[in-house]
Amino acid sequence: MISITGPLNQIKPAWIAETEQRLASHESIQRAILDSLIRYYDLMTTAVECGSPDMLEPILDEWVRSSLRIELDKHTSSVTLILNKILQVTIRIAREKLEKQAALDLIETILPIFSHAYLYVTQRETQLQIESISAELEAARDTLEQLDKSKSDFISIAAHELKTPLTLIEGYTAMVREQITKEAENQVDILLQGIDNGTRRLHEIVDDMIDVSLIDNNLLKVNFQPVWINRLLELVRQEFSQTIEARMLRFEIKPFAGSNELTFGDGERLYQALCNVVSNSIKYTPDKGQISVDGRILPGFIEITVTDTGIGIDPDDQTRIFEKFGRVGNVSLHSSGKTKFKGGGPGLGLPIAKGIIEAHGGAIWVESEGFDEVRCPGATFHVLLPIRKEPPEDKLAHLFRTVDKTRTE
Ligand code: ADP
Repeated sequence: MISITGPLNQIKPAWIAETEQRLASHESIQRAILDSLIRYYDLMTTAVECGSPDMLEPILDEWVRSSLRIELDKHTSSVTLILNKILQVTIRIAREKLEKQAALDLIETILPIFSHAYLYVTQRETQLQIESISAELEAARDTLEQLDKSKSDFISIAAHELKTPLTLIEGYTAMVREQITKEAENQVDILLQGIDNGTRRLHEIVDDMIDVSLIDNNLLKVNFQPVWINRLLELVRQEFSQTIEARMLRFEIKPFAGSNELTFGDGERLYQALCNVVSNSIKYTPDKGQISVDGRILPGFIEITVTDTGIGIDPDDQTRIFEKFGRVGNVSLHSSGKTKFKGGGPGLGLPIAKGIIEAHGGAIWVESEGFDEVRCPGATFHVLLPIRKEPPEDKLAHLFRTVDKTRTE
C-alpha cells in the first residue's frame, strides 16, 4: 500500500494557510479556526494512517454543535459547506505541490474519508436538530402547562376567597330576616329575596369554580351508585320546568332503549352534567323553540343526545367550548343568567360536564351546522357513557353482589 503520510505532511503548511483564508469569513468556526484546522488535518492524517475514517468524528461533532448553536434557524448545513471548501483546497494544494502520481494517490486515499465525513455530518446535524426542536417543544409545553396551572390555581384561590364573604352575607341576611318586625316584613322581604337570588347565583359560580379546579387537578371523586338515565332526565326536566314554560319552549324526552336500565355512575354528578347541557340548550334557543332529548344503546355504552333549535355553534368553536372559559362571542354582549336567552355565564358549564363525563370513562361532543342567530340551525350535544353493571371499585362491587344475592335468594 502506498504511504501518503509523507505527501500529507509536505502540503500541511500550504493547506493550513489556504483553508484558514478560505474559511476565516465563516462565523461558526472563526474563533478557534487555526487550532481547529490543525486538529482536523492531524486527525485526517491519523485516519489515513489507520485506515479508519471515523477518527474525524470528534472534531466534526464539535463543528456541527457550534454551527447549529449559531445557525439552527437557517436550516442550512454549514459544516457540509466547510467540508466542501476543505476538499476543494486539499485537491488544489495536492495538485500544485505534489508530483502528479503522488497527488492522485493522495486524492484517492482521502476521498473515502471525506465521504464518511459528509455522511456523519448530515446524520449528526439531523439528529441534533431533532433534539433541539424536541427540547424547544418540551419547553413550550412546560410553559403552557405552567400557565394552565396558574390559571387553575387562581380559580381555586379566588373561589375559596369568595366563599367566605358569601357565607357572611348569607348569615347576615338570615339574621335580618329573623329580626324584622311583622309590619316591615313585606317590604323588607322583597329586598331580602333580591339578596338571596344574588347570593345563590354567586354560590353557583363559586361552586363551578371549585369543580373546575377539582377536575383540573384530577381530584374529582366519582361516587359510583346505581343510576337510571331516564330518572335523571326526568329530574332535569323538573329542574327547568318553570323556565321551559316561561320561555314557551317545547321540551321532549323520548323514551329510548337502555334509558330505563340500571347502570353505575355518580347520580349527582351526572345530573349536574346533564343540567349544564340542558341549561345551555335552553339559554341558546330563542323563545318557542324546541329541545329534544333522545338516545340509543351501543355495545357497552349508552348515548344521550340533547338537540335544540337554537343559534348553533361554529365548527371552529366546537372544541373550544369544552375548555374552561371557552365561551364564544363578545363578552360584553353576554348578560348573566342561567336560562335567559343568550344569558352567557362564565364559560365553566361545559368543561365541568366534560370533566364529569370523562371521569365516568365517557365522552361528550357537539354537532352543529354552524352559528346563525337568524336561521337558528341548532346544536346536538352527545353524551356517551359506559354501561356498568357494577361499580369499578372491587370492594363496592363485592358489596353490591352480596346485596343482589340476598335479594334473589
Ligand atoms: P356559559 O356559562 O358561557 O354558558 P358553557 O361552558 O356552558 O359556558 O358554554 C360555553 C359556550 O358554548 C357558551 O358560551 C356558548 O357560546 C356555547 N354553547 C354551549 N351550548 C350551546 C348551545 N346549545 N347552543 C349554542 N351555543 C352553545
